[in-house]
Amino acid sequence: MPARNDEKEIATGIMTDRVINLSDSGGRRRTRKCPICGRSPEPAHVPFCSRRCADEDLRRWLSGEYRIPSEEAPDSDSGAG
Ligand SMILES: [Zn+2]
Repeated sequence: MPARNDEKEIATGIMTDRVINLSDSGGRRRTRKCPICGRSPEPAHVPFCSRRCADEDLRRWLSGEYRIPSEEAPDSDSGAG
């Protein structure tokens, strides 16, 4: 007799229905400026204005400028045995 282990955890998730209304004609357009230089972004490189700025942003990430300051507690492992 095989052990039957049915552990099913039903996670109740809240379904959030987001209705996106895209208005083509007229109206205001939320245009975000290039975070690097502040120019109007190009459709091909949003939210950046150019590939260069996109690369610059990536470089900053890699460089660690955008790194979130987190305090890491020193993990000291002491075992008496
Ligand atoms: Zn730019």
